Amino acid sequence: MKLSEKARKLKNEYQNKWKKKNPDKVRKYIADYWERQAEKLENSSLDQAIKSSATDSTQQISVATDNKRCIVCGNEFQSKRADARFCSSTCRSRYNRNH
Ligand SMILES: [Zn+2]
Repeated sequence: MKLSEKARKLKNEYQNKWKKKNPDKVRKYIADYWERQAEKLENSSLDQAIKSSATDSTQQISVATDNKRCIVCGNEFQSKRADARFCSSTCRSRYNRNH
């Protein structure tokens, strides 16, 4: 949206006056905004959110979790660790017993 200088000033003036007249609505609007952010953040940390706001969050997550194959039972599993070789601690201990 491109506004002329005059229109922009009018818009700012309008918004400022509106805010002064409706402090409760402004507060509620800000509160609503942060409530929504809080809901979004429920399953992730604030650090993650800050990081992912710079890039595409879904892409970052799919890159971080890779499908791996357990070297003991052959099942596919997901791990964020690049060197993960076992689907579970059961397979890990089974492997360690045999090697
Ligand atoms: Zn396994």
